[in-house]
Amino acid sequence: ILLEDGAGEAAGFSNKDYEQVKWLSRDELLQEADILISLQPLSVVEYQRTKASCILVSMFAPYFDDSLVKEIQSIPRQAFSMDMIPRTTLAQSMDVLSSMASIAGYKAVLAAAQKLPRYLPMMITAAGSIKPAKVLVLGAGVAGLQAIATAKRLGAVVEAFDPRTAAKEEVLSLGAKFVEVEGAQEADDAGGYAVQQSEEYLEKQRLLVQEKAASADVIITTAQVRGKQAPLLVPKETVDKMNAGSVIVDLAASTGGNCELTQDGKTISHNHVYIIGDSNLAADMAMDSSFLVSNNIFNFLKVWVKEGVIDLDLSNEIIESSLVSK
Ligand code: NAD
Repeated sequence: ILLEDGAGEAAGFSNKDYEQVKWLSRDELLQEADILISLQPLSVVEYQRTKASCILVSMFAPYFDDSLVKEIQSIPRQAFSMDMIPRTTLAQSMDVLSSMASIAGYKAVLAAAQKLPRYLPMMITAAGSIKPAKVLVLGAGVAGLQAIATAKRLGAVVEAFDPRTAAKEEVLSLGAKFVEVEGAQEADDAGGYAVQQSEEYLEKQRLLVQEKAASADVIITTAQVRGKQAPLLVPKETVDKMNAGSVIVDLAASTGGNCELTQDGKTISHNHVYIIGDSNLAADMAMDSSFLVSNNIFNFLKVWVKEGVIDLDLSNEIIESSLVSK
């Protein structure tokens, strides 16, 4: 195992925490690696310095932008994009997107609780009783479900919404209320992901969200459609109807945001409503996110590295789906 010198420092892991590894500069590493793994992709200039036989592994997200993958194909190098691993039971232990979404959902509730000038749970004190806060979760995928579970644990009253019918049962099983908007489109071949909804449906949804938002203390938005701009669910006029002190955490910030006012990577205040635009909350929990990601990568490598030998079986669904450059 070759590691880039100091790679773990910012996450609290020092070189001396590791045994039986070789520490190298990035330059040396690029030249020596047979399999080069990085969470975020490197530049094509750096990939060009690797051996011709080197296999690249990263999160290339070609469904958003395939330009880097095309460049890698032209060098050429073989490359795996771990975000292309199918969402099957067998591949669950390799799913980096799920690991990170789950942490982000948890952290989103903590970030909202920190900013909210109110309690989340009900409190009965000698000085008076406090009602539990209301939390509205838009999008009940991996991040949304973890946000629901965390908000429930903290004692909030939680409502959630998702166009996928499968989400209803999951939301109810966590003790939250499911808000329904009729007429959603679904596709069996979308691999567990949502499909883009019609403008008519989104308009119906925005009206319902507006009604709910007026009494919500916290809105956590996680709605995403793979490869597309995030759907707009909370326009400015909805934010205008929210109570002062309310908090919106927009986990879809990097793909345009579910709230019209979201600024990616920033927390802003609009008429005393805080809007936290953060798609990278998992980075705030570097120890556990590193632990989960490293297990995901290890489980993925076990599929095609057998006793130190690379063995690519292209009929394997996991390999076939994630190999973005052959
Ligand atoms: P995602 O990050 O792509 O999207 C987040 C959520 O936004 C999804 O639940 C989606 O339905 C929802 N959404 C889309 N448009 C919306 C709209 N207009 N309004 C409200 N919500 C909207 O998805 P994800 O969280 O990564 O996962 C989606 C599904 O895949 C989940 O059912 C999850 O359980 C499943 N999954 C399965 C596996 C596996 O079996 N290996 C792994 C991960 C996820």
